[in-house]
Amino acid sequence: MSSIFTKIINREIPSDIVYETNDIIVIKDINPQAKIHLLIIPKKHIETIDHLEETDKSLIADMFFVAKKVAFDLGVTWWYKLHFNVWKAWWQEVMHLHLHLLSNI
Ligand code: AMP
Repeated sequence: MSSIFTKIINREIPSDIVYETNDIIVIKDINPQAKIHLLIIPKKHIETIDHLEETDKSLIADMFFVAKKVAFDLGVTWWYKLHFNVWKAWWQEVMHLHLHLLSNI
């Protein structure tokens, strides 16, 4: 299954890429809700938190380490917010797992 984020990962559509590893990409949110609004996205297509498998454990851990790194790189470490929206529990617009990083610093 594809998603708009898969198209971004595959460079089929443009986006503002902030950081990238073999497994994760970080982009600027197209509709920022704060001065800094990034999306930390696994390249593997996982729909939601509900769809995580045991084998995704290290990938999910890596997403948090990438979040920490970009927060440090941007100098926002004394205030930033991380959140996942989860389909069913809250409104999730893009059905491809992503961690929001927001800061107004
Ligand atoms: P969510 O409600 O957690 O699914 O949020 C999805 C986020 O993806 C929203 O904040 C959107 O603004 C953002 N978004 C959607 N399409 C794009 C895109 N092409 N490039 C960057 N961010 C996007």
